[in-house]
Amino acid sequence: MLVLAHVRELLEQAADKLRAVAPDLPVGLYSAGLKRRDLGYPVTIAGIQSVYQRGCDVGAVDLVIVDEAHLIAPDCEGMYRTFLADMQQINPQVRVIGLTATPFRMKSGSICSPDNILNEICYEVGVPGVRCGAQGWGTVLPGVWEPGLRLADVLGADRSTYNQGMRYVGTVYRPPSEANSYLLQATIGCSWNHCTYCATYEGKQFRVRPLDETLEDIAIAGREFGARVRKVFVMDGDALVMELGLWEPILEALRATFPNLRRVSCYATAMNLLAKTPEELRRLRELGLELLYIGPESGDDVTLKRIAKGANSADHVEAAAKARRAGMKQSLIFLLGAGGVERSMEHATASARLATAMDPTFLSALTLMLIPSTPIHKLAQTGRFQMPSVEDLLRELRILVDEANPSDAIFRCNHASNYLPIGGRLPRDREAILQQIDAALSGEVPFREEWSRGL
Ligand code: SF4
Repeated sequence: MLVLAHVRELLEQAADKLRAVAPDLPVGLYSAGLKRRDLGYPVTIAGIQSVYQRGCDVGAVDLVIVDEAHLIAPDCEGMYRTFLADMQQINPQVRVIGLTATPFRMKSGSICSPDNILNEICYEVGVPGVRCGAQGWGTVLPGVWEPGLRLADVLGADRSTYNQGMRYVGTVYRPPSEANSYLLQATIGCSWNHCTYCATYEGKQFRVRPLDETLEDIAIAGREFGARVRKVFVMDGDALVMELGLWEPILEALRATFPNLRRVSCYATAMNLLAKTPEELRRLRELGLELLYIGPESGDDVTLKRIAKGANSADHVEAAAKARRAGMKQSLIFLLGAGGVERSMEHATASARLATAMDPTFLSALTLMLIPSTPIHKLAQTGRFQMPSVEDLLRELRILVDEANPSDAIFRCNHASNYLPIGGRLPRDREAILQQIDAALSGEVPFREEWSRGL
């Protein structure tokens, strides 16, 4: 049996899981990133980039399991298709199982259909917050509100969903790292909603949900999931904006409802962090709000002004210091390409400087996607914004990795928008990460294909 995945973290997760459920099962790893080329085991876990041209070395297998199966190209091209075609030639009876949390493509619909490699649904699962994909600033729980629920009456025509104890207004988003968290929607939309590249909460008028509804949701989720909930992500866009008077009962209810709760997190902007007093932040931390996801996107003040972030680099440094003094961790997001061709190098250098100054626990780089309907897309169409080439985006990434110097940050660049999924710790793994970027820049490692990028 062969398990395929596209990033090192997924390979490691699969190996850990197999070790836990079947400790006596010999498992091989085949991944250049992990420096392993084990073949001939009953089960091999392989990175698709390492193995896709080596079907003959792998030989006949009975079953291939593809993690993140939505990455199999819809047509005849791509690494997965190439490799699976070879596997089928070697063993025409080979079976393929795909795992995905995002089984739908915008253009072609379900990835599972009678004519596809994946032609039948074997099993569907719903867990707290899931049916979310691993994309986006986060991804989504679309759906239609069931009739008769009180929130539907309150909020009128919003597209909402009721899914196993969760009631969401519109599409909701969470960071990839909150994939297993209970998602609680305490605010709707983003209180800022001006960033020129962002269509995330387009059409959602910002409002705070009535407290009794939020508490009711917690009670419903408690009955549904109880002790299974270890992490809670409070949405929408910048839930930190809520007044302390609302946060307190919510955090208290979360602690009382989920006995195994380890962490509460939310998105935050520098502005709403700065608007809280040190005492308020300390109180939020005491009650369990531990991690803030902040997207400065750039450290370059010219870029920040152009993308209408609403705060400059000095504001972000001050906000980060305030959060740190309150004992909160930060997960920072920078956006490759945000400075365009014109500010590409300044954007990269200043972002590295800001990442150092903010000193986060988690640091990630995403890549700007030009979404139709956003101001930046319009600027691009009229030639007033120019997206850097893929190589230049990688050069920005290289500068960020080379020059950012946090005390000890987990670095991730594995978001679906990125051309090169990489990760590690900074500064510890700097040289290894730089080597991977250099390998991609010199053509030794392929970029993620355009069709498979997304938010
Ligand atoms: S603060 Fe975040 S959610 Fe709000 S508009 Fe900017 S990027 Fe979008």
